[in-house]
Amino acid sequence: MNAIGVDVGGTKIAVGIVSADGELLDEVRQPTPHTSKRLIEALAGAIQEVGNGHEVGGVCLAVPGNILATENRVIYSPNLHAIEGVALKDELEPRIGLPLTVENDANAAAWGEFRFGAGSDVDHLVFITLGTGVGGGVITHGVLMRGAQGAGGELGHTTIQATGPRCSCGNRGCLEAMASGTAIRRRAREVAIEKPGSALNRLASTREILGEDVTRLAEGGDEAALSVLEEAGVWLGIGLAGFVNVFNPEVVAIGGGVVEAGDLILNPARREIQLRARSPARDLAEIRVATLGAKSGILGAAALARDPESGEYVLGNP
Ligand SMILES: [Zn+2]
Repeated sequence: MNAIGVDVGGTKIAVGIVSADGELLDEVRQPTPHTSKRLIEALAGAIQEVGNGHEVGGVCLAVPGNILATENRVIYSPNLHAIEGVALKDELEPRIGLPLTVENDANAAAWGEFRFGAGSDVDHLVFITLGTGVGGGVITHGVLMRGAQGAGGELGHTTIQATGPRCSCGNRGCLEAMASGTAIRRRAREVAIEKPGSALNRLASTREILGEDVTRLAEGGDEAALSVLEEAGVWLGIGLAGFVNVFNPEVVAIGGGVVEAGDLILNPARREIQLRARSPARDLAEIRVATLGAKSGILGAAALARDPESGEYVLGNP
């Protein structure tokens, strides 16, 4: 049986129908409306369109922000306020005629990598996505860790620097505030000023620096850009060392745009894990680049769709 995964973003909605072996059979994308009524209509329309002509067992929406998965409810979604508090299950199920569940987007992406990507060969996976923010998900003994309210796995909001910069969540010095794409751009602006002779400085004097600029300049050997990525990698490693100690994962998969920097950010992170995490957990944990890219959300959401009768996953249990 197939399932539909929906990646609900602040700018676009991506809806895909996925087969039991993780093949994306068809996909529909459209801009995200920012009123609740139009959002529900758009979701229902896209789900029906992509499911048309296929056998479908269920749907799961992957939504950014603070999700109560046990209640299929979105408490807080900073980039999509229109979805907050909407009774998604009650509104959508009668329109689409399919059972629906709601999950945090990073949890869904983690589940995607676990079922079909970088963690498909293991039972214990920690997943981190380094983008504008930092999302996380934890799978232990083959089970997605959701916590009491379905709000668990927020690894990006672990404090790693008590007096660090303000995070989007209101706290200071979260992993997100230290190692996200946003944090790298902030540090790049600061370092550009501190290092007047650098390529980073020259670029910053002409236009705003993007994350990919930092990677490109670092690959070209610019010391200032290299130091920005090295520093972010150290903070990432400090966060990961804690996760390795807590969860004893076989694989730590890292996704998101920042991982384009590859070993420039991952090698300092690996070094910190060796320095800080405990044996034998640190010796087991393998740091891998996530393999599904932007598809992880759709694939993971589809794999989290459940049959309401049996409670089993529509695409099969791992
Ligand atoms: Zn935070």
